[in-house]
Amino acid sequence: MTTPATGASADVAVPEELQNNVWITNIAKLLDPAYNWARKNSVWPMVFGLACCAIEMICTASSRYDLARFGMEVFRATPRQSDLMIVSGTVTKKMVPTIVRLYNQMPEPRYVMAMGACASGGGPFKEGYTVVDGIDKFLPVDVYVPGCPPTPQALINGLIALQEKIDQQSLATVPWYRKDDPTAGMVEIPVLGPDLVDVRQIDIIKAEAKKAAQLAEVETAVTEPEAAS
Ligand code: SF4
Repeated sequence: MTTPATGASADVAVPEELQNNVWITNIAKLLDPAYNWARKNSVWPMVFGLACCAIEMICTASSRYDLARFGMEVFRATPRQSDLMIVSGTVTKKMVPTIVRLYNQMPEPRYVMAMGACASGGGPFKEGYTVVDGIDKFLPVDVYVPGCPPTPQALINGLIALQEKIDQQSLATVPWYRKDDPTAGMVEIPVLGPDLVDVRQIDIIKAEAKKAAQLAEVETAVTEPEAAS
């Protein structure tokens, strides 16, 4: 059987008489398929829904659609045993701190799916003052599932897309084994006050507030002498 040297190992010289018998590879190439095969066929989503899209997600978990085919039927009731957060529904500002806290409680490797128009970009409530226009403003989304609501078939399609993404990952580059990777680790929990404040943007917010205060001072200085005269 011919087993040619491939990928990064292709430049390794193999004597001609051995080329039909020797397969040159590296540890990552050897382990990645097994590592990814096991993970992609045992994705455990979290029991977690926000609005109408959650009903479709619940339908997807029913016997008719048989998520067990993908090893995904075990919806876990705790983030600590889940590796997939399906954000299914309208993301309100009030809910964001809780969603981010749940995400932080999930162990790596973890994935996020934005299910439906609301979770992907605000949906029909995009202009609403209580609604966040997409969970990707706070969490790294791996797969977007379009629709309002997406059907169970659409969600399954998204789950298959996630499996394909997992299949492309490599032990050598995945963020959860690299301490310096900015995409790994905790996400700062936003603060809910009169409005939602993203703590990661605090420097920009302070700079903008300072600029606005200076502008207001200048305007007051201009209008006060006019009023006095
Ligand atoms: S996308 Fe449509 S179905 Fe899903 S939560 Fe928003 S309004 Fe409801």
